[in-house]
Amino acid sequence: MKINESHHISTQTLDMPPRLLLGPGPSNAHPRVLQAISMRQVGHLDPSFINLMNENQELLRYTWQTDNLFTLPVSGTGSAAMEAAIANTVEAGDVVLIAVAGYFGERMVDMAERYGGDVRRIDKAWGQAFTLDEISTAIAEHKPAVFGIVHAETSTGVLQPMEGIGGICRENNCLLLMDAVTSLAAAPVFVDEWGVDMAYSCSQKGLSCPPGASPLTLSERALVKMDQREGKVSNWYLDMSLLAKYWDGKTRSYHHTAPINMNYALREGLRLVAEEGLEARWQRHQTNAELFWDGLEAMGMFCLVEEPSLRIPSLTTVRVPDGVDAKAVAGRLLNEYNIEVAGGFGQLAGQVWRVGLMGFNSRPENVLLLLSALKEILN
Ligand code: PLP
Repeated sequence: MKINESHHISTQTLDMPPRLLLGPGPSNAHPRVLQAISMRQVGHLDPSFINLMNENQELLRYTWQTDNLFTLPVSGTGSAAMEAAIANTVEAGDVVLIAVAGYFGERMVDMAERYGGDVRRIDKAWGQAFTLDEISTAIAEHKPAVFGIVHAETSTGVLQPMEGIGGICRENNCLLLMDAVTSLAAAPVFVDEWGVDMAYSCSQKGLSCPPGASPLTLSERALVKMDQREGKVSNWYLDMSLLAKYWDGKTRSYHHTAPINMNYALREGLRLVAEEGLEARWQRHQTNAELFWDGLEAMGMFCLVEEPSLRIPSLTTVRVPDGVDAKAVAGRLLNEYNIEVAGGFGQLAGQVWRVGLMGFNSRPENVLLLLSALKEILN
C-alpha cells in the first residue's frame, strides 16, 4: 500500500495571537489555571486523582451554594451539561415548560424536544426578564414536570431574577432547571436557597478555565425523578446514573476516561473562587461592570437592558449607535487592539455588541482599555 501524502502538510510551532477575550466566552484562563493544566498526568483512577475529584466536588458545592451530593463536572462544554440535565430528567411525554427570552432558551426547547418532551413555552421579547406572576400563571396552566429558565441569557444580557420560582415549582410538583452558564462565579447563585433542582454551567467564563469541564448539580428531587424513569436515558455518554458510579465516592467504577488535565484546570479555577470568596467575587464583577456602564454612558452609548439590576454583571449588551457598522468595529478591535468582543445574533444581529468581563478578565484595566479603544475607533 502506498501512503497518501496529500494531507501531510507542514506546520509551524503553535503561536496564537495574544487576544484579550472580552466577548461572551471563552474568557482568558487565569495564569494559575494554565499552569495547573500542564501538570503531569495521573490515571483517572489514581488515588491522587480521586482525591482531586473529591476536592472539585466540594469546591463546586461551595460555588453553587448547594449541599447536593450529585455535583460534578460533565466532560464537555456547557451544552453537554445542559444536555445531561435534560436527557436524564425528561422522559418521552413529560410536559416541559421553557421560559424563552433569547437564544439559549430556544436551545433548551430544542433539547427537550429531542428527548421526547411535550414542550410548552412562555415567550418574552429579547432583552426582557420574566415576572414571577408570568411564571406562576404559566406553571399553573401547563402543570409541567420540568420548568426550565436561563438565569443569565448571554444573547440579550438579561439577568433573570430567580427568587420565588423554586417555591412555585415545588407547590406544583415540578422540577426547576436553571442555566447558569454565564452567571456561575460571576453573579450571585444560590442553588439550594432558590430551590433549583438541576443547574449547569461551563468552565470558560466565570471560572476562568478553558472550555471542557462543565459543572452540573442535581437535587434529591431530580434524582428521585431519574430513579423512577421507565426507560434508559437515551444518551449513553450523558447517562448520569452511569457516571454517578465513578463520582459517587464509593464504587469509582470506570465510565469514560475523565479529562484529567481539565479537572486540574477546574480545581485551580475553583481554588481561585474559594480564595477570593463568593461575595468579594460577585462584588468585583459588579463594580467592574458598573465602571464599564458609566464609561459607556459618558461616551453617549447605552446598554440594551435599561434596568441595571437586570443586567448580567459579567456580560453587557451595548447598543450599536445609529450609522455604525457593528461588525467593522469588532473587526478593528480584534485586528488593531487584539481585543475580542462579539456582535449580537438572532433578533439582535447588528444591534448590539456583547462584552464579557468574566472571571480573571473582570478587571478595571480591561474596562479602561476597551473603553479607550472603542473611543478611538468610533471617533
Ligand atoms: N447557555 C448559555 C446561557 C450560554 O451562554 C452558553 C454558551 O455561551 C451555553 C448555554 C452553551 O455553552 P457551551 O458553548 O459551553 O456549550
